[in-house]
Amino acid sequence: MISEFDLIARFFTRDQSSQPQVALGIGDDCALLNPTPGMMMAISSDMLVEGRHFFPGADARQLGHKCLAVNLSDLAAMGARPLGFTLALSLPQADEAWLAGFAAGLFALADAHDCALIGGDTTRGPLNICITIFGEIPPGLALRRDAAEVGDDIWVSGTLGDARLALAGLRQDVALDPASQAAAAARLDAPTPRVALGLALRGVAHAAIDISDGLSGDLGHILQRSGCGARIDLDALPLGPVLARQPQALQRAFALAGGDDYELCFTAATTQRAAVLAAAQAAGTAVARIGSITPAGGLQLVDASGATLDLHPSSFDHFASP
Ligand code: ADP
Ligand code: MG
Repeated sequence: MISEFDLIARFFTRDQSSQPQVALGIGDDCALLNPTPGMMMAISSDMLVEGRHFFPGADARQLGHKCLAVNLSDLAAMGARPLGFTLALSLPQADEAWLAGFAAGLFALADAHDCALIGGDTTRGPLNICITIFGEIPPGLALRRDAAEVGDDIWVSGTLGDARLALAGLRQDVALDPASQAAAAARLDAPTPRVALGLALRGVAHAAIDISDGLSGDLGHILQRSGCGARIDLDALPLGPVLARQPQALQRAFALAGGDDYELCFTAATTQRAAVLAAAQAAGTAVARIGSITPAGGLQLVDASGATLDLHPSSFDHFASP
């Protein structure tokens, strides 16, 4: 069987001469990064655990994509530019076909964002993938959760709910035809981090968060940190195309509290509407205006007629949720 060091050399070590942000890559006790002088570092970790975040036997290439995508999404939600990442891998065995697929998915996304793999750790154990990502941002321009202001518009990127619908289909809670299941599963297995949008929203948006646990819960973090409330028009939520063909109750439940969307939810002053739309166009990502920030605490849900709805969406919690 391949040794630990051969594994790292063969699957994870690449020529980094074209990546000036890397002063020293894999192979020493630490990597050395070269952030642009004057920039702040943005740092985040996310872990994917087999049986918890993905099904046993999940496709290796998709896992390679997803574990980096969820980390890039955190940089996007801050408005940070990716520089590099470390990869801590626990593997039950050194399966070379699995490693080749995993590395292909990982590096395809890493290269698309010029984000360099600079180090990590490799050990035998239950399948567990932990990435720490490093980005940079000019001081004062980070899109923080505590920066929403009363009167701001609330926006979301892309569409919501198809990832959650794919999970419901896999669990056979909802019957989906094979084409619909495949289309929804693409959102669950291969999320698109909105890095370009996050960068374009620097200086335009106030607060931002990426929607990993469901819109209502994640927006709730902005409300809590910013000390305000929100009013959301449920009929303005941009639904995933597969979810859009489902009954309304399911649409609302999954768009509000689905999870795994990896879209951005952000707030911006009403005077910035044209600037938000220009940022979205420059980034090639659709955005929808779904409500506004209010002084009172809590989340008020209304429909297009203005009627208040009494829904209690719950977001995903690893210890409180089933
Ligand atoms: P140390 O003994 O200092 O922990 P290791 O022997 O674990 O170093 O790793 C050797 C080198 O390989 C280090 O530079 C480390 O960052 C890198 N590395 C280990 N595992 C990975 C991985 N899965 N992906 C990328 N680099 C890795
Ligand atoms: Mg080590």
